[in-house]
Amino acid sequence: MNFGDSPDEAELRARLRAWLADNDPGLPASSTDDAYWRGQPAWHQALYDAGFFGMSWPKAIGGQELPSVFDVILDEELAAAGTPPRPSLGYLVQGILEHGNEDIQQRFLPGIVSGRERWCQGFSEPDAGSDLAALRTRADRDGDDYVLTGHKVWTSYSDDADWCLVLARTDHDVPKHKGISAFVVPMGQPGIEQRPLKMINGITKEFGEVIFDGARVPAANMIGAPGEGWPLAMTVVSHEREPGELGYVSRYKKVVKELATHVRANPEAYDAEQTRDLGWAIVEAEMLRLHVCRRLSDRLDGVSHGPEGSVDKLLMTQVEQAVGHAALGIGGTGHGDADDTALKVYLYSRAQSVMGGTSQIQRNLVARRILGLPA
Ligand SMILES: Cc1cc2nc3c(=O)[nH]c(=O)nc-3n(C[C@H](O)[C@H](O)[C@H](O)COP(=O)(O)OP(=O)(O)OC[C@H]3O[C@@H](n4cnc5c(N)ncnc54)[C@H](O)[C@@H]3O)c2cc1C
Repeated sequence: MNFGDSPDEAELRARLRAWLADNDPGLPASSTDDAYWRGQPAWHQALYDAGFFGMSWPKAIGGQELPSVFDVILDEELAAAGTPPRPSLGYLVQGILEHGNEDIQQRFLPGIVSGRERWCQGFSEPDAGSDLAALRTRADRDGDDYVLTGHKVWTSYSDDADWCLVLARTDHDVPKHKGISAFVVPMGQPGIEQRPLKMINGITKEFGEVIFDGARVPAANMIGAPGEGWPLAMTVVSHEREPGELGYVSRYKKVVKELATHVRANPEAYDAEQTRDLGWAIVEAEMLRLHVCRRLSDRLDGVSHGPEGSVDKLLMTQVEQAVGHAALGIGGTGHGDADDTALKVYLYSRAQSVMGGTSQIQRNLVARRILGLPA
């Protein structure tokens, strides 16, 4: 296994480094601050316009059809330069590529890839999270449209989204997994109310509740056939669980690098437990990086995507929480006037074992679909 750069990869890396030297957006370290979310659309568009976003996706939707190793180089160089990671949208793109027809792909994917159109994912509801198939939002046919009624929650980026990928029930007389359809719903219309939710770390822009009360969506915006929303949902969440898709590894490496800088600058200020926790977080982040490299190698060898995403998600959660724990120890709780970034990193890490499917659900999937254990 050779992880060294080929000539083409080395050329991209050099070009990227030169570009980043002049184009650092000066945003906060990660998703721990509203300023990060406010600046993310412009950052996405700048990366895309310079030819550095969506490199592995099809040319027909604005990509460059390069091997996914180019995205990894991007992640590495963004982390090394201390800029924010690339926005994580691969799971939406993969879901629509796999389940949307040509018309849907052409209408919607170029806007996602270029960052000119903002998207959110309306799957979870107050009584349908782990048991997603219990969702109750309904879509009723009315002429050329469907009319939506229901309540979504934890909808990330719903405040500035132009479009929402909504799962809604279109058939009430079939087993619950089979009556769900997927729609691309325009957000800016009467009949949709977005209510921001404030997170424990103070962020207000990351997610919200979305209430549909008579919102309309053209039937032509359905992805797949009526009742085929469930396979799409499974494609989306399985891609959502891959750390390689999310550029998370670079984010963790960036945080531990910053923490190590603090410790080196003032080693006497930290006790053995704090430095041990940081050392462990550095080892875990590197372990995840190597795991992602291996998964990438598999992909380049044509090994297709499967339930292993659940193992990735569990590893990613373990690493994020080790990094968060170290951040709290080194960076402190931000009492008084102190910088509270470390506290925010810690608090955000707690959400990792919930978002994209909880750790308990991932263990159930590993048990049944990888180990073949009984339910
Ligand atoms: C930061 C963040 C961002 C999110 N973004 C989005 C988004 O953009 N779009 C979206 O649709 N959703 C989003 N979510 C929602 C997320 O997908 C759900 O929170 C998650 O699936 C869990 O559902 P729940 O919160 O309803 O918890 P529940 O399903 O009610 O689970 C509660 C507890 O019970 C356990 N449990 C439930 N069922 C089982 C079982 N069968 N076996 C063992 N244990 C079980 C769970 O593990 C958990 O510990 C986001 C969540 C977070 C935290």
